[in-house]
Amino acid sequence: MQILIVEDESRIAAFVARAFQAEGLGVHVATDATEGIGRALDNRYDLVVLDLMLPDGDGLSMLRELHQRRPELPVLILSARNDLPTRLHGFELGAVDFLPKPFSLDELLARARVQLRRVHVEDDDHRVRVRGLELDVARRQAHLGDRLVDLSDREFRLLHVLMTHTDQVVSRERLLAEVWGYDFDPHSNVVDVCVRRLRHRLGPDAPIETVRNVGYRAAA
Ligand code: CA
Repeated sequence: MQILIVEDESRIAAFVARAFQAEGLGVHVATDATEGIGRALDNRYDLVVLDLMLPDGDGLSMLRELHQRRPELPVLILSARNDLPTRLHGFELGAVDFLPKPFSLDELLARARVQLRRVHVEDDDHRVRVRGLELDVARRQAHLGDRLVDLSDREFRLLHVLMTHTDQVVSRERLLAEVWGYDFDPHSNVVDVCVRRLRHRLGPDAPIETVRNVGYRAAA
């Protein structure tokens, strides 16, 4: 597995690179956004760790371009700029996770492992399958049997989280964090409403189970 670190502070880049290498992962470091996007498009990476304040611009602009051209590539933002609007913007542009600096190396490794496991669940053509339901992550399409199911970006992402954790209960809090970018409970029922819409679109064969008072599960 290969990881791209986009980070201009050489001390942090070296520290993170060593930690990933110790886990047996291949690591490249890019020191600005231009080099980062060039490397990410020319090579096959399993994860990008992205700093936001880069010498040649904003990591968010890089994320926007990268997500348009490589939507299946998970990007974890690691940044000192961690106000809520920035975090939400990052998730909106396609980041899968956001870790504020200063950070704990153990937490970074744990979060990276979650993303790498998920890559593993997807096969080489970037499809995730649960029963008759298939997500084409690169094209952002869902198929139920032969039928193409039209989903919003939010619905697709929610389904993706559930389907990459097959047979595990995923809590509402986690869905709020991963799909909406909230790290607090807004005391709303957005998750339940989104699941209801998903079930409506997928029909009675939807493999989504409700786990009362906890969350949801994609059952294989
Ligand atoms: Ca920086």
